[in-house]
Amino acid sequence: MNFYRIFIVAALLAKFLVDLISEWLNLRSLRPDLPAELQGFYDPQQYSRSQQYTRAHAWFGIAGSSFDLVVLLIFWFAGGFNWLDQLMRSFGYNSTITGILYIGAIFLADTILSIPFAIYSTFVIEERFGFNRTTPRTFVMDRLKSLALAAALGIPLLAVILWFFQYAGGLAWLYCWTVTALFVLILQFVAPIWIMPLFNKFTPLPQGELKERISQYAAKVGFAFRDIFVMDGSKRSSKANAFFTGFGRNRRIALYDTLIEQHSVAELVAVLAHEIGHQKKKHVIQGIVIGIVHAGIVFFLLSLFLNNVKLFGAFYMESVSVYGSLVFFGLLYEPLSFVLSVFLNAVSRKHEREADSFAARTVDNAEAMVLALKKLSVKNLSNLTPHPLFVILHYSHPPLLQRIESIRKTALPA
Ligand SMILES: [Zn+2]
Repeated sequence: MNFYRIFIVAALLAKFLVDLISEWLNLRSLRPDLPAELQGFYDPQQYSRSQQYTRAHAWFGIAGSSFDLVVLLIFWFAGGFNWLDQLMRSFGYNSTITGILYIGAIFLADTILSIPFAIYSTFVIEERFGFNRTTPRTFVMDRLKSLALAAALGIPLLAVILWFFQYAGGLAWLYCWTVTALFVLILQFVAPIWIMPLFNKFTPLPQGELKERISQYAAKVGFAFRDIFVMDGSKRSSKANAFFTGFGRNRRIALYDTLIEQHSVAELVAVLAHEIGHQKKKHVIQGIVIGIVHAGIVFFLLSLFLNNVKLFGAFYMESVSVYGSLVFFGLLYEPLSFVLSVFLNAVSRKHEREADSFAARTVDNAEAMVLALKKLSVKNLSNLTPHPLFVILHYSHPPLLQRIESIRKTALPA
C-alpha cells in the first residue's frame, strides 16, 4: 500500500471532519435571545433571520465541500490524473506546454464544477435574504473576466515555474521564488489601477462634508492620501464594506457606495480611521512579506518532492513530470496549508484589533465606530455568537462583541 495515498486521503478526510465539527458547533451556539449590546438594533424577527442566514451558509458550505471531496476521490481512484496526462502527452508538445495544458484543464474543470454552486449562492441564498443585486449579465461577465485574467497572469508565471524546475537544476526553487516574489510585488502595484477597475467602477469621493471631515482626520494623524474612492459595490450586493489596497503611489482606500448610503459622516470617518490604521501599522506590507516568505517555503518543499516516484504512484501515474509534481505536491501540502490558514487568520484578527484600537484612539468619537460596526453587522446579518473553534478556523475579523469590547477599552475618554 502506498504511504502517500493513505496519508493524503486521511488528511483530506480529517480536514473534512474538522470542518463538519466546527460547522456543527457553530450552529449549536446560535442562541434565540438577542445579546444586550444589540438591543434596539435588531427586532426579534430580523434576528432570527440572521440565524437562518448562518444556517443556510453552513449547509451550503457542507454541500460544497462534500461535492468537492467526492469528485476528487472519484477522479483520483478512477485513474483520472493519469488518463488526463496521457491525453495531454498525445498532442506531442514539449513538457512546458503539456504542463500548462494539464494544469489548465484541471483548473478549468474545477472552475466549471464550481459554477452551479456560485449560481445557487448568488441567486438563491443571497437573493432570499435580500442581498443580491447581481444581474445574470454581471455574473457571466465576472466569470469570463476572471478566467481571462487567470489565463493572462497565470499561464506566463506557470510557464516560467515549469521551465525552471525542468531545466535549472537544484536551485530552481530559488529562481521560482524570486520570480514569484517579483510577480506578487508588481501585481500589488498594478492591481488597483489595472485589475480592480475591470470589475468595479472607482470614482473619487466628491467634495463635501464627508471629504472635508476625512481630510481633517487624515491631516491630524499624518496620513497623506491623494484620493478616496467610492466603489460601486451595489452592482453585486447590498452588503457594505471598505478596504485598503496597493502601496506606494497606487495605494488607495475604497468605500462601497452601499456603505456611504447607510452611515453617518462620523461613522464613515471611524470606518476610514480603521482602514488608515491598517496602513499606519504596516499591515499591508506585513501581509505581502508573509505571502512571499510562504511562497519560498512552498517552492523549497516542492523541490524535495519533485518527480517523486512513490508520490506519482499514489495517483496511479505511468510517468513522472514537473507539472504532475506541482499538482500532487499541492494535495500533499493540504494539511500544512490548513495549519497555515489558521495561523494567517490569527494574524489577520490581530491586525484588525490593532486597526480598531488605532481608530478608537484617534477619532473624536469612538462610539461612532461601535455604532458603525453594529449597523454593519445588522445589515450584513452577521453571526453574533460564533463558536470559538469556528472563529479560529475561519474568521479574519474578531466577532462583533469582542471588537466592541476592545474598542471601548482602548478609546480615549470622551
Ligand atoms: Zn480591517
